[in-house]
Amino acid sequence: MIIRQYFQDLVHLLFPSICVGCEVSLFSHEELLCTECLYHLPFTDFHLDIDNATARQLWGKLDVQFAISMLYLSKSSRVEKILYNLKYGSQPEVGYYLGKMYARKLSQVPDMEQVDLILPVPLHRSKLRKRGYNQSSYLAKGLAEGLEKEWSDTLLLRSKATVSQTKKNRSDRYDNVENIFYIRDQGMVKDKHILIVDDVLTTGATISSLGNVLIDAGAKVSVATIARA
Ligand SMILES: [Zn+2]
Repeated sequence: MIIRQYFQDLVHLLFPSICVGCEVSLFSHEELLCTECLYHLPFTDFHLDIDNATARQLWGKLDVQFAISMLYLSKSSRVEKILYNLKYGSQPEVGYYLGKMYARKLSQVPDMEQVDLILPVPLHRSKLRKRGYNQSSYLAKGLAEGLEKEWSDTLLLRSKATVSQTKKNRSDRYDNVENIFYIRDQGMVKDKHILIVDDVLTTGATISSLGNVLIDAGAKVSVATIARA
């Protein structure tokens, strides 16, 4: 064991891991995030308040049991950097790590007990091929393990890649994500309480579109995102 520890320390010395939030070298006891970043994460504490800003953002678009986001996202922030590394930095393990962290908070939401199944927002297969992974699948996996719930990233399909949404106005954006989600096996969601998981909540259009497809198939839905813009 001592030799193994020595070897691990040596590897760490030669190839130090860097913090996904601020790029400082990590100490061997730190994992993905440095202590400083961990300490300064801007938690929303929405899990303690059902009537929160994420829930309100979905009003009139999606009828949820509960909706929460773990962190506030602001421009050029730590959280932005972390999410960038998760999505584009080939570091899907960040998603698993955040999912596990989030599970500890979500376990305090009373309605969490009723959740049957955790489903990540799917990527279109061309995007999946390009990126190599769906970041939200890793979030879902971490959450599911922490909460001891079922999860699946093969039950939902996304029919086409959405074109760049940044140039479109708000109402176009809604049209753009309509009817792009399909459920492979409707029997798997009927009468179930589904927790939809994604990395960021922006307009809420994508999540509402997916959530309404699930509701039409007889499910109840809740939403959990890592961050809200
Ligand atoms: Zn850091």
